[in-house]
Amino acid sequence: MELPFAESWKIKMIEPLRKSTRAEREQWLEAAHNNVFMLKAEQVYIDCLTDSGTGAMSDRQWSEMMLGDESYAGATSFFKFESTVQRIFGFKYVIPTHQGRAAENVLFSYLVKQGHVIPGNAHFDTTKGHIESRHASAIDVTIDEAKDTQLEIPFKGNVSLEKLEKVLSENQGNVPFMVLTVTNNTVGGQPVSMQNIRETAELCHKYGVPVVMDSARFAENAYFIKTREEGYADKTIKEIAKEMYSYVDAMTMSAKKDGLVNMGGFIATNREDWYEGAKLFCIPFEGFLTYGGLNGRDLNALAVGLDENTEFEMLETRIHQVQYLASKLDEYGIPYQRPVGGHALFIDADKVLCNVPIKEFPAQTLTCELYLEAGIRGCEIGYILADRDPVTRENRFGGMDLLRLCIPRRVYTDNHMNVIAAALKNVYDRRNEITHGVAIEWEAPLMRHFTVKLKRLG
Ligand SMILES: *Cc1c(COP(=O)(O)O)cnc(C)c1O
Repeated sequence: MELPFAESWKIKMIEPLRKSTRAEREQWLEAAHNNVFMLKAEQVYIDCLTDSGTGAMSDRQWSEMMLGDESYAGATSFFKFESTVQRIFGFKYVIPTHQGRAAENVLFSYLVKQGHVIPGNAHFDTTKGHIESRHASAIDVTIDEAKDTQLEIPFKGNVSLEKLEKVLSENQGNVPFMVLTVTNNTVGGQPVSMQNIRETAELCHKYGVPVVMDSARFAENAYFIKTREEGYADKTIKEIAKEMYSYVDAMTMSAKKDGLVNMGGFIATNREDWYEGAKLFCIPFEGFLTYGGLNGRDLNALAVGLDENTEFEMLETRIHQVQYLASKLDEYGIPYQRPVGGHALFIDADKVLCNVPIKEFPAQTLTCELYLEAGIRGCEIGYILADRDPVTRENRFGGMDLLRLCIPRRVYTDNHMNVIAAALKNVYDRRNEITHGVAIEWEAPLMRHFTVKLKRLG
């Protein structure tokens, strides 16, 4: 008999979970105005709100925490971190920052000017925010296939070279860089192939445009290249990562994802001019160049995290768990964005809650129902998140309406995945009885989803 798959680690420290009753959850959700961001974490049983900063560190990371050098300047922790980044990514210049958006803020303060155009494969919201707040524009050049939620192709996060070339040729002299996001978070954690990375960089370089890799889930992307792209099966994750970065000019990183730490980020590049330019903004925004908003112990833990998470077994365990949950949903016939990506499942809420009118926010309603069912916290990526049209002030109902379930790294077991799947099935089985959604009672003018107050209808 073939031995079944099992995690590549065992558990040394545990954190108790809190279960609750449906009556308690009804009360808590009402007090939170039907917005799961307003719940206390202790009111949640299984937390799938995000995979950002929510992972579990290893014994080796925790032991490095004790060795942190908290010197203001020139700490040994910085050099440990710097040499790890240099070894894994092949970049000479490294600037630590407190998280990914801080890396964007520092680098873009130097690079982005009013009127610039910055193409990318679906810029992450903070990336887009840092571009648009500088009165520049972010243009999405992801392949059209990414929009078809049921289409199964191996590299759904790819860049459309035609769309990219159009932007590059129409805006010559006005494109400071292109942002290549791996995995493509916005379309569901979908990977970008090595061929696409190479061809994208070649095309940009032909137009004299450098490429910045937005790298939050670079290791998951490398795992998909190894397991799906011809010619990479026998390469190590570290070899694949090195090749990915050999084509591009710089990276910004949210280490809260594939860095396996709770807080952290960085910029790395081989361009001395960019390094010199970014340095000037690191000091006032983040702090001195050898700590950039992080403790020495954090830099130590990050160095180990980057090393651990570029090992195949660690990624195999992670992706296997996400795919395991997806297989359960297949079994129950629950529709989600296919194929499942690296870090999350996106449930197609409008196909589940068919009887909830679009204007009553089906994905937000499903988010509430799943919490009430079992204390599981997901996140609406739909019409509430889409905000209002800045000109007409109408709700934007044109996009997708999804319930996102992020899986934190090394935190839950497959038994927890079984609970999530069963809870979803229970909601799915009574989907026809759910005929009313939610209505907005109060909202902020921008980024309303974090603080919106909602009323349950019906
Ligand atoms: C999370 C993320 C960021 C921002 O990083 P923070 O650490 O949350 O500030 C940027 N880009 C991508 C692709 C991300 O996933």
